[in-house]
Amino acid sequence: MIPENMPSSQDYQPKDLPFKRDLIGISEKTIEIHHDKLYTGYVNKMKQIGAELAALATGEKEVSGNQTYSELRALRNGETFANNGVYLHEYYFNCLGGSEEVPENALTNALSEKFGSIENFVTYFSASGMAMRGWVVLAWDTQLDRLKVYGCDSHNQGGVWGCIPIIVLDVYEHAYYLDYGSNRKSYIADFWKNMNWEAANHVFEKWSS
Ligand code: FE
Repeated sequence: MIPENMPSSQDYQPKDLPFKRDLIGISEKTIEIHHDKLYTGYVNKMKQIGAELAALATGEKEVSGNQTYSELRALRNGETFANNGVYLHEYYFNCLGGSEEVPENALTNALSEKFGSIENFVTYFSASGMAMRGWVVLAWDTQLDRLKVYGCDSHNQGGVWGCIPIIVLDVYEHAYYLDYGSNRKSYIADFWKNMNWEAANHVFEKWSS
């Protein structure tokens, strides 16, 4: 049994946006759909799946597995999709609400050193956003002990365990289609104009030291 004072996925609550809905290029309507409907929907699914897995985990319901189809298999796959859907969106929203100006801090210094310049990093990360179908992540890889860019096509495909997301870009069409049509390049260019470098630096400093 999970002790009563321990948080579980069933208790999880959607987080408020950490910025005002006045971003450059990305409309209030897009944020409303993205945060209030899609993200909140993932939180609800995470809670529902968590409750159903808890019933199996605690013996309340009989548990058995089959890799072609079983309730447990469906829940296992649903859980990683929903939970990563929640976490990745929270990391993404945390990156927004900043400004075009790139401050000098530990993260931007580390990126300049690693990529030669911030411009090189932004170009490489942005191109990765064009290459992937789901997400691009600048992470602190705790196995390699250094910054790494990873990309994935789906919430539960392509993620690397042991990595802490620092900058996360959502490149699913729902993130930009309303405002940019099929012009994903412009959306990514505006992502940098809204970038909250201080928030990203906060995560970097916490994990890299
Ligand atoms: Fe999204």
